[in-house]
Amino acid sequence: MHEMSLAEGVLQLVEDGARANAATGVTAVWLEIGALAQVEVEALRFCFDAVTRGTVADGARLEIVTPSGLAWCMPCGNQVPVAQRGDACPHCGSHQLQVIRGDEMRVTEIEIA
Ligand SMILES: [Zn+2]
Repeated sequence: MHEMSLAEGVLQLVEDGARANAATGVTAVWLEIGALAQVEVEALRFCFDAVTRGTVADGARLEIVTPSGLAWCMPCGNQVPVAQRGDACPHCGSHQLQVIRGDEMRVTEIEIA
């Protein structure tokens, strides 16, 4: 399951952050997951709970922010909103869209104890 490796990657970042701040515990983690990142948020929450058990982030709250998708249309040159991958340009109907926002996933903040 792809969410499990994502959760492990998040835990790695959180543990590094906690160590850098000499924190004994992490109470919350803010994650940005773009609307086009193809991540199952509920599955990720479940995996996060599982991988953090017994770690510095045990019991930490997971706050997820989902930036909407934005793409650049190559044929007509417009910047267009995209709800999901495979959407067509609302101006010209082209599928040659280059995603410029919404496919990222990153940890933006960690709240430490
Ligand atoms: Zn277009």
